[in-house]
Amino acid sequence: MNLAQQLARVSRLDPDRPALFNGTQPVATYGEWAQRAAGLAASFAAAGLNPGDRVVLFQRNHPRYLEVLLGAWWAGLVVVPVNAKLHPGEAQWIIDNAQARWAFVTSDVAPSQFEALERQVDIETPAYEQLLAAGPVSMVHRAPDDIAWLFYTSGTTGRPKGVMLTHRNLMTMGLTYFVDVDPITSQDAIVYAAPMSHGAGIYAIPHLMAGARHIVPASGGVEPAELFGLAKAAGPLSMFAAPTIVKRLVDHAEAHGESSEGFKTIVYGGAPMYAADIERALRVMGPRFVQIYGQGETPMVGTALARAHLADTAHPRHAARMASVGVAQTPVEVRVAGADGQALPAGDIGEVLVRGDTVMAGYWRNPEATAAAIRDGWLWTGDMGALDADGFLTLKDRSKDLIISGGSNIYPREVEEVLLTAPGVAEVAVVGAPDPEWGEAVVAFVVPQTGTTLEAFALDAHCLSQIARFKRPKRYEIVDGLPKNNYGKVLKTELRRRLIGG
Ligand code: AMP
Repeated sequence: MNLAQQLARVSRLDPDRPALFNGTQPVATYGEWAQRAAGLAASFAAAGLNPGDRVVLFQRNHPRYLEVLLGAWWAGLVVVPVNAKLHPGEAQWIIDNAQARWAFVTSDVAPSQFEALERQVDIETPAYEQLLAAGPVSMVHRAPDDIAWLFYTSGTTGRPKGVMLTHRNLMTMGLTYFVDVDPITSQDAIVYAAPMSHGAGIYAIPHLMAGARHIVPASGGVEPAELFGLAKAAGPLSMFAAPTIVKRLVDHAEAHGESSEGFKTIVYGGAPMYAADIERALRVMGPRFVQIYGQGETPMVGTALARAHLADTAHPRHAARMASVGVAQTPVEVRVAGADGQALPAGDIGEVLVRGDTVMAGYWRNPEATAAAIRDGWLWTGDMGALDADGFLTLKDRSKDLIISGGSNIYPREVEEVLLTAPGVAEVAVVGAPDPEWGEAVVAFVVPQTGTTLEAFALDAHCLSQIARFKRPKRYEIVDGLPKNNYGKVLKTELRRRLIGG
């Protein structure tokens, strides 16, 4: 089982099918992609790289990302995609931790030479082309449990851990897309707007399986006008988008009266999508959304909230479902458990556990962390949630985000959902601040919509009209924006630090 077999299969079937694009510009057919990947694999072998050796990708989003990925797998190597927004010092830490032998970079992301590498190749230089020009070699066989991708978790605190994703994990993830997200065909296209080192890039696998087109925006990032243009020119177009990206697309569509016609499926996840936001997205852009919940440790596969669920407005529990992350995806079991790992009754809040073929093999050279995360075959996600009787999972918060005030548990998400429906509110993050009387006090950081002034008393009245008195924020901080990491996740640790600092 080698993921690169998918490239060999599609390229044999249809070598002239356009595969890789830079914006609307075709750069390789499936036949050329396979030939270049096999050429790169030959150069790896000639240089003495052995199956299982690690190769780092530290590049901005680029069509050649996919050549290196598949070339490395062809040779049986393990890819280590590193978030292009990391500081070179952080990337060096990952290179050292993974004991990588080679790295493929773009000079904008990696302007200088890393230490401890045997070779660093800029993919925009003739040296890269030379590597691909080698005569192709046959593909290296991989066992299902051999590692394909070392995924360094984004983490909002501490050093990242290398999640070991196997060929089986990623093969299962790819097939699951067709069942739980969208039955893609060779007529479809995917655009990589979010970082390819993360979920967006992982979705290259199902689109490769389908023989679809892979488009990297010429801007290399998230420009709503460009994405709408690509959808028009190259649709049916799908993409993975964090909720912040969805918001930008919806703002753009609304402000410019832009048609969303060319977009097929926008898969959102990675951070909470509030009910008010997805309702607006559906209203403005139509039934193009599917939500997934997963984490690096079970990539893109935990639960999914399908298009049909989002569209079923007549269902008596529709409102609750909109605020949920959906039901277990096909290859996994999802359990909400107490500290002993036993399943809790429907409605009770506990830690979310996942078991199945997408769950990682463990953390790279970190048996302690692996033993803490995987117990009796279940992955302990660190997310808190509750299942309803139909199997819909509603996330409450990461276990560490829970606020305990005066002995009562308060899930920030619940308060955030309410505040987001207050007039003039654009974004919210609720955290706990140390409090001598209550242990912790609820504090809301609120970003007003442009041109709006927010008053704490009005926000307070809004909360009081909808949630228990003890849950409402004791304090409101009106701010221009929220601190976020490179994937658009709000950095609650940073907000807590601010509260302690002042
Ligand atoms: P990462 O491993 O960086 O992809 O982060 C995974 C974490 O993001 C999960 O453990 C959740 O806390 C959060 N997350 C992922 N998907 C969702 C979602 N659909 N809704 C809310 N939070 C999510």
